Amino acid sequence: AFLYYEKSYNLSKQSKEKIDKFQAAFHFSEFLFKQNRISEATPKIYEAKDLAEDPDLNLKISDKAEFSVLMGEFYNQKGDPQTAYNYLKRSTDFELQSKSEQSNLQLTKSEIDKLEHDNASLETRNKLMLFTFLSLLIISVLIILLIYRGYRSKQKTNQLLTELDELKSRYFSDITHELRRPLTLILSPLEQMLSSETDKIPDKKQVKMMRKNANQILSLVNQMLDLSKIEAKNVKLELVEDDLNKFLRIHFAAFLSVASQKSIDYHYSLLKEKNLTIFDASKLEKIINNLVSNAIKYTRKNGSVNCKVHYPKENILQIEVSDTGIGIPKNQLENIFKRYHRISSEENMNTVGTGIGLSLTSELVSILHGTIKVESEPDVGSKFTVQLPLGIKHLKEDEYELISKNSITVNHSEPVNTGFEVEADTEDNTENITASPQENNLPLVLIVEDNKDICDYIADNLNDHYRIKIAHNGAAGLKKAVETIPDLVISDVVMPKMDGIAMCAGLKTDENTSHIPVIILSGKSAIEDRIEALETGADAYLAKPFNVSELKHLVNNLIEQRRKLRERFTRNLKLEPKEIAITSADEKFITRALEVIEKNIGNPDFEVNQFQEEMFMSRMQLFRKIKALTNQTPGDFIRTIRLKRAAELIKQNFGNIAQITYEVGFNNPSYFAKCFKELYGVLPSDYHRQKI
Ligand code: ADP
Repeated sequence: AFLYYEKSYNLSKQSKEKIDKFQAAFHFSEFLFKQNRISEATPKIYEAKDLAEDPDLNLKISDKAEFSVLMGEFYNQKGDPQTAYNYLKRSTDFELQSKSEQSNLQLTKSEIDKLEHDNASLETRNKLMLFTFLSLLIISVLIILLIYRGYRSKQKTNQLLTELDELKSRYFSDITHELRRPLTLILSPLEQMLSSETDKIPDKKQVKMMRKNANQILSLVNQMLDLSKIEAKNVKLELVEDDLNKFLRIHFAAFLSVASQKSIDYHYSLLKEKNLTIFDASKLEKIINNLVSNAIKYTRKNGSVNCKVHYPKENILQIEVSDTGIGIPKNQLENIFKRYHRISSEENMNTVGTGIGLSLTSELVSILHGTIKVESEPDVGSKFTVQLPLGIKHLKEDEYELISKNSITVNHSEPVNTGFEVEADTEDNTENITASPQENNLPLVLIVEDNKDICDYIADNLNDHYRIKIAHNGAAGLKKAVETIPDLVISDVVMPKMDGIAMCAGLKTDENTSHIPVIILSGKSAIEDRIEALETGADAYLAKPFNVSELKHLVNNLIEQRRKLRERFTRNLKLEPKEIAITSADEKFITRALEVIEKNIGNPDFEVNQFQEEMFMSRMQLFRKIKALTNQTPGDFIRTIRLKRAAELIKQNFGNIAQITYEVGFNNPSYFAKCFKELYGVLPSDYHRQKI
């Protein structure tokens, strides 16, 4: 044992590791100490002690405990019990520490095992959770997508429904408007016939008008019925055998007078020879009427409309209707065949329409197995081309019935209903209903209304007591009013070019026409429309269908009211402009007129010519305006103002009568005295005395 311990000790000297040196020294010294070879053991024990205290040497706690036991025994042997006790105490501490570490270590191991196990299950759990989370995420995303899609399609449906609703209400308001007009013209004459005031036997003209308007409603209702029949797929072709060229000629010719009335150059070209063939006359008539009436409706004055008929193949009819009208924007071309679609340009909205015509036309063309095409350019014009197969070869048996030509519309003796109202020639779109010379003093009433029947109807009713002028749109009405200065204006609201409200505002803000009372007639009966009309200065508002006796009373009252105001002015010369004026524009006018006269009051050459020039008005305009406000001619008005000034000067003791005569622009004192007496009932000299 000694040899081996010694060998280990010697070998440790060659090792670089301090721990080897310590172990060799510790165990060799322990062996020697236990053999009681104390003196040999001592140096080795100190050597091991030095190494143990070396901070570089990282001794295990168990080694520290064992070495402390050896040291304790060594110091005990040496007779140093205190140090021996300290070492042994340290050794027990180390042992305790080492045990606890070991147990800890064991504990940790089992824990690690457990933890590893836990870890494994945790990983699986995590994977499971991740999987669940991802699945949930995907499901939620899918659900959200589904909900979003549902929401979007609901939104789209809602939008479509709203559009449909808007379309419906717009259509119904258009239709009611369209129906109101003819109804007014049926109901008002009826009311008049029934009123106790007139026991006239119904006049033929009125009854005719009622029939025409009833027919107009009928044709609108028929169009709507046609559409609903088509919708219900309840339409059969009604074929007749007839001369197609003759049929076409009659239907194209029906538009000649309408076109010339609108100053539209209208032509149609078709073959002269007889063409006996089988076709659906009633549907063809509707197609032609629609295309030609649209072409005329959407073409301005002096434009042209051309209709061409030819047969590109046997049994194929081609009709081309082209115009130089307002045209259709490219992006609207596909929409015009949709039901109720109207292009929302200002010009288009000025024409009356429901947006049914083309949709009905294209449905009819497709029922006839034909095609319809449109080419158009805004402000250049439009061309509609329809091709229709003729005969019965292309038809199934249950698609048509052959009928006798007498049972349908091919009745050449009846006038064709073009959908237009043919009017008497009206060159500048305004017309006069003339009055006999002795009636020239009657008040002048201007009727502004685009519907010829309503115009005639009002005119007929006022004709006995008033002179009548007529204009068919707001712009023409305004022009006519400025030119003729009527005593009263009756105006419709919805009219092409300028509506009645704008015209009324124009009249009321122009000094020349501001005094003229305006009655607005309108199909719109909403309170806002009334307020709008009254705000622009209209003096009265009547909703259509109006009662003609109410209208007559209104006209009479308003003209009478103006007459009384004028009388007050002539009776009482002290009236200030404010008191004469009906509107502020009238007040401005009178003030300006007085200023012009005052400025020239001393000038005996100041007469109507100069007055009119300085007022920037025509002789007629000045005459009618001064007459309307003062019941005097401009000449009388100038003289009245001169005399009024003279009376004031007399009151102020300005000078003698001769001086005053010249001061107010009279160059003849006796003429002055005569005029003065006419107005004041006394001679100027007496007036002076009278005042004193
Ligand atoms: P309506 O004329 O009653 O409005 P349509 O169905 O006949 O209805 O026509 C639909 C729309 O197509 C019209 O509102 C108009 O905008 C447009 N349109 C039809 N024909 C013409 C034409 N010849 N020139 C210009 N626009 C036209």
